[in-house]
Amino acid sequence: MTAREVYLAADPVNAEIVKDMLVDRGIPAHVRRQHLWGGMGELPANVYPQVWIDNPADFERARALVTAFERGPVEGGRAWHCPGCGETVEGQFNACWHCQHPRPHPCT
Ligand SMILES: [Zn+2]
Repeated sequence: MTAREVYLAADPVNAEIVKDMLVDRGIPAHVRRQHLWGGMGELPANVYPQVWIDNPADFERARALVTAFERGPVEGGRAWHCPGCGETVEGQFNACWHCQHPRPHPCT
């Protein structure tokens, strides 16, 4: 086995977001089956785009990132500023992409 699926996306945009997230963190990944997209509402579930990693050794780390992505912020997608390094972090991430600082609690 040379590649492994880590994420089944709801749509190609989601697949690209997850793939970019993995690549940004040094995990080579690619999207499969996005070319089959186009008949929304008529397609069976088995044509949803998939994100694959190229190296199975990255699987555990990739799954952890995907899980964090799927959990997402409760309040939905608002970008936040990292208290650790000041970077702007996209709302779907629960830790800073730059310094790994965890997302501050929304109530603090
Ligand atoms: Zn940071």
